[in-house]
Amino acid sequence: MKRYNPKKPHKWGYKIYVLSGVSGFAYKIEPETGSENVVLPNEPDLGASSNVIVRLSREIPRNQNYRLYFDNYFTSLPLLEYLSQNGILSLGTIRRNRIPDCKLPTDKEMSKKDRGYSVEYVADVNGVDAATVAWKDNKVVNLASSFVGEMPKAQVRRYDKKTKQYITIDRPNIVGEYNRHMGGVDLIDSIMGCYKIRLRSKRWQVRMFYHLLDLSIANAWLLYKRIQKAKGLQEKHLNSADFRLQVATTLCKLSVPSKIKNRRSIENELQSKRHKGPAQHIPPVAIRQDQTGHWPVWTEKRIRCKFPKCSGVSQTICEKCGVALCYNKHNNCFKQFHLS
Ligand SMILES: [Zn+2]
Ligand SMILES: [Zn+2]
Repeated sequence: MKRYNPKKPHKWGYKIYVLSGVSGFAYKIEPETGSENVVLPNEPDLGASSNVIVRLSREIPRNQNYRLYFDNYFTSLPLLEYLSQNGILSLGTIRRNRIPDCKLPTDKEMSKKDRGYSVEYVADVNGVDAATVAWKDNKVVNLASSFVGEMPKAQVRRYDKKTKQYITIDRPNIVGEYNRHMGGVDLIDSIMGCYKIRLRSKRWQVRMFYHLLDLSIANAWLLYKRIQKAKGLQEKHLNSADFRLQVATTLCKLSVPSKIKNRRSIENELQSKRHKGPAQHIPPVAIRQDQTGHWPVWTEKRIRCKFPKCSGVSQTICEKCGVALCYNKHNNCFKQFHLS
């Protein structure tokens, strides 16, 4: 599963494809193993890289005009066609050699043009209009889309190294659309990267587990922010580090009901005490140990303690369980009752 990528700080690593929303929220992932390129009967085979998008987009609702963005590693015109036929709009940067019979100027021809120059060709791909646009900024960029094209152009400011001053150049609509929506995956990466779990394990299972844990926490933080925003509290939300700390503290303090060996005998004694004593209800074990809402309340009446083998009388009642339990200098039947 290890892949070599000279562009990354860690050149050897595992490759995971991610479907993210604009907020960064990761909806679906696919680790690259070399054996996932399986084409379902109702899907076309568009080549290894476009097929990744076909698989990642399986859960996107059809015919709702969702917009899907990807980079030139994945883009091909048949992919745009397939998505469009399924009611999913798409836009990606594209390699010139992936456009059959390409009419866009070559990079060499484009480099002679002024900065801001652009050309558009709309291709009919089996009934789907696919706009292909070449734009010259610092470098030449080629894009293809089934829902947006060159027009309307916007004006953007750029620094010109030759004249050492700012200039205004044209920017096709397709580029602005791409820049505004692409980058969800980079976003979730950077949220995860800031406080990533550091560990030295070389076993891929362990590394993958911690990666997924980091991904889940990043996703949880994005959901938490969405909720805070819905409540009108976006100014007050925890940053990603404090959110992580709160999750960690909560998980550490969340105690699991103790599994004691003689639970059955205590259960029996609790039940038998019910038979003997006055009609006081004893709740089932799942309620007794759920550690939620068992508040002590004071009662005027002195009632016999419900804890097995305790003959004390108590004026403390568990509000949820509705039984009297000792809580005094010598006995804490209240705690024992809820733990056993
Ligand atoms: Zn209780
Ligand atoms: Zn007691």
